[in-house]
Amino acid sequence: MQSNIEPTYTARLRSRRMEVEKTLGHLSTERHQVESNTEWLNETAYKRRITLLDRVTAWYRSEMAQIDKALNRVKDKRYGFCVACHKPIGMEHLELSPESEYCPSCQSLQEH
Ligand SMILES: [Zn+2]
Repeated sequence: MQSNIEPTYTARLRSRRMEVEKTLGHLSTERHQVESNTEWLNETAYKRRITLLDRVTAWYRSEMAQIDKALNRVKDKRYGFCVACHKPIGMEHLELSPESEYCPSCQSLQEH
């Protein structure tokens, strides 16, 4: 069963990875533009913009790392199994987030 669902999620992970990569490209272009723009009215506005861009970039980078980890688990034939308790993560959970490392119960332990 597990091997039947794998290709669907792998495809979703790959296309999501491409989107994230594109977004990261846009973000870095925008950061360069902000940095090279000398017409900023004030320092605060400039810093706020840079901080925001950095925060969003970090967020996308961590998503990219999650996706890469998930794709590595596909390669190692461990995809779909919880990295903590090794039980199947469950299709419903994978449907919501194909990059999940943990089953719902281990995930809630992580969050607390
Ligand atoms: Zn678990």
